[in-house]
This record gives sequence, structure tokens and C-alpha cells, in this order.
Amino acid sequence: MQNPFENAMKQLDKVAKIKNFSEEFITRLRQPDRDIRISIPVKMDNGSTKIFEGYRVEYNNALGPYKGGIRYHQDTEINEVKALAFWMALKCAVAGIPMGGGKGGITVNPKELSKGELERLSRGWVRKLSDILGPKKDVPAPDVNTTPEIMAWMNDEYQKITGDKTGAMITGKPLDKGGSEGRGTATAQGGFFVFEALKKELNLPEKCKIAIQGFGNAGSYAALIWSKAGHTILAISDSKGGVYNEKGLDIEKLMKYKKDTGSLSGFPDAKEITNEKLLETECDLLIPAAFENQITGANADKVKAKAILELANGPINPEADEILYKKNIPIVPDILANSGGVTVSYFEWDQNLKNEHWSEKEVFDKLRPILEDSAKKILAKSKESNTDLRCGAFILALERIEAKITL
Ligand code: NAD
Repeated sequence: MQNPFENAMKQLDKVAKIKNFSEEFITRLRQPDRDIRISIPVKMDNGSTKIFEGYRVEYNNALGPYKGGIRYHQDTEINEVKALAFWMALKCAVAGIPMGGGKGGITVNPKELSKGELERLSRGWVRKLSDILGPKKDVPAPDVNTTPEIMAWMNDEYQKITGDKTGAMITGKPLDKGGSEGRGTATAQGGFFVFEALKKELNLPEKCKIAIQGFGNAGSYAALIWSKAGHTILAISDSKGGVYNEKGLDIEKLMKYKKDTGSLSGFPDAKEITNEKLLETECDLLIPAAFENQITGANADKVKAKAILELANGPINPEADEILYKKNIPIVPDILANSGGVTVSYFEWDQNLKNEHWSEKEVFDKLRPILEDSAKKILAKSKESNTDLRCGAFILALERIEAKITL
């Protein structure tokens, strides 16, 4: 497996060559403020005790408290968490919110745990890290395989330890436990606002044909939002494979089918395709919404989409970036495309601290102009430096961090 942190540092190096940032600043950004590894003992249902490895990386807090999700996955390891924390620091800067970058994780396949084991593990993660977490210090959120229910357990554990009643130490909570309206769909909805803001610039048609990799929080809501807006979803996949219909998939039916059967496989009116083939679908827009390193030097040449919008973090590695740039396939980078998630997380934190509850309309009315403004500024930065949108986004983020950082 490729090291995502090395890829993130290659992206940083590329931008440092384009724009004249101070060497001291770039050197500082090559290391997180701290990376913490913990072992979490969990009493299993059979009476044994199992030790899990967990992480929290606090990358940079020049702009505000560290902010970033917690990932539960069997392949999660420190370099992945470091890369994700670095991207979070840039993402918060791109969104212009007063938050820094962090990320957490546990090496675990949550599907192998009972609900009770999962709860004890999640509470254990907070117990080991309660000293460094907090509304004004470090504010986690959901990521792959972590849910509002898990956020509620973590918040409850934190309250028990510290007495904090604001609920603002973690975001992505259920609505009745201090969560924000719109948080569940925010990442996909934000991606859609960015898409609308850049559609003309990307030379995309009014109604697009789309392929989406991943059918979790980001991917499934993206499919729903784009199809409700009249676009055609040709193909979708999850970890077990995908489905394709040249006339378009019925997304509501597909969501129900996946809920009932646990899989996309066997969905009526569709052909089955592999994840590899999905990435090669002939379409207007490809939306990777699963994991990092999906498009690499090995398959970038086979991509036939007219443009790519990264809802996942780090789905395209630096080698593939170069290939796609030469093929004239523009990429809307993750730190812009999926920044709706963290922006609504910030709204949740803000509501908790002010003891307010905003309507979904209020949330999205606040979100849209933020993303449109970021998209416009990033486009201008990329044109100014005659580079791609990813470098444009990095330049915007780095300038904002450099203005506030103390070296
Ligand atoms: P999720 O756990 O809800 O869903 C992940 C999906 O990816 C699942 O459908 C899974 O089956 C699928 N998947 C796993 N391996 C795959 C593979 N090899 N090919 C195709 N599909 C595969 O996670 P999520 O929250 O939707 O996150 C997906 C991506 O979006 C991650 O990169 C995450 O960091 C990023 N992201 C999520 C949010 C958010 O708010 N949820 C915010 C910003 C970024």
C-alpha cells in the first residue's frame, strides 16, 4: 500500500516550488504538532480482553482548535491518519473557518465487533485522550465507519470525565444529542454546491452523466443529490463491487436495495461491474467517494471522465495527478470538494457553544456562499499561478495558515 503521508508531502513540495513560501514555514508544515498512539483495552463479549491500537494526530492549530474525524478501519495506521490530519488543516483554511487540522482512528474492522464491544472501544478512545480533547482544544467528528451514535457515546464519556455539558467537544452527533441539521448530507451537499459553482469552468454539460465510487455517507448522498437535480448516475460501487446502467440508476431504489440486502450486487435493471471498471466509465463526472489511492499511475491513463470531483480524501495520488493534468482532465480537489462536511461540523460546534439550533435551510444557506467563495478564490489562484485546482487550493490554504502561524 502507498504511504498517504508521503503523497501529501509530495503535494506540499509541488506547491512550494510554484509559490514562494518561506522555507521555515514549509518545514514546519512537514510535521504535525503531535501524533499520539494509544492502546485501548476492550472487554470482549466472551470475557477476554483485547487491545486495539488507536491514534490522534493534531496537525496544526494556527487557525483554531484541531478539527477532524475518527476513522475505524482494519488498514488504518499512523501515516494515513497523519495525511488526513494534514489535509484537514488545509481544508479548514480553504473553508475559511476558525479551526485547525486533526484526525483520529482505530485499527479495527468494526463489522467484526458486537454493538457493546464497539461502544466500549469508542469510550476507551475518549478515556485515553480526554486530556487533549475539548471544545477549545481538539474537536473530533465522524469519518469512515464512524456514526452519529458513536459520536454520542464519545460525547457522553467526555462529559462523565470532565463535566463539560456544551456537547461541543465532538461533532456529527445525533440531532437529539446536539447534532446539527444537515450534517449527515453536508459533505455531498457541499460537493454539489462546489460542482455548480465550477460546472461552466470545467466545461461540463447542463445535465451530466456520472459515476460514483463508494456508497457510504459521502457517495450515497451524492448519488441522491445529483440525481434529484436531474443528472444521470450511470454507475456506483461499494467495497464489494458495483452496478451500471447506461440509462441511469434509480438511486432511491438502490439505497433501499442496499439497506435490505447489504449489497449492491443483484440490483435489478443493472449490470454488475468491478471497482476497477467503474473508474474507467465513460462519463462527464467521476466522483471518488471511498478511499485514498484509488487512481494511481497504474490506472490514471484509463480514466475516461471529462472531470473528477474528489469527495473522498486523497483518492488520486501525485503520479496520477500529473497524468490526468496532461490528459486535460480537471480535478476538483478534496480539500475544496468535501469541505462541506467540516464546515457544517463547525456550524454544529458554534450552535452548541451558543446553545442554538439552526434549521436545515439556515445551515445550507450559510454553507453555499462559503463554498462558492472558496471555489472562486481557488480558481483565481490556479489561474494566477498557471496551475491546477489542487495547487490553487493549497496556495489559498497555505497563505491563510502562514498569516496566522507563529514560527
Ligand atoms: P463510509 O464508511 O460511510 O463509506 C465508505 C464507502 O466506501 C462504503 O460504501 C464502502 O463500501 C465503500 N468502499 C470501501 N472500499 C471501497 C473500494 N475499494 N471501492 C469502492 N468502494 C469502497 O465513509 P464516508 O464517510 O462516506 O467516507 C468516504 C470518503 O469520504 C473518505 O475518504 C472520507 O474521508 C471522505 N469524507 C467523508 C466525510 C463525511 O462527512 N462523511 C467528510 C469529508 C470527507
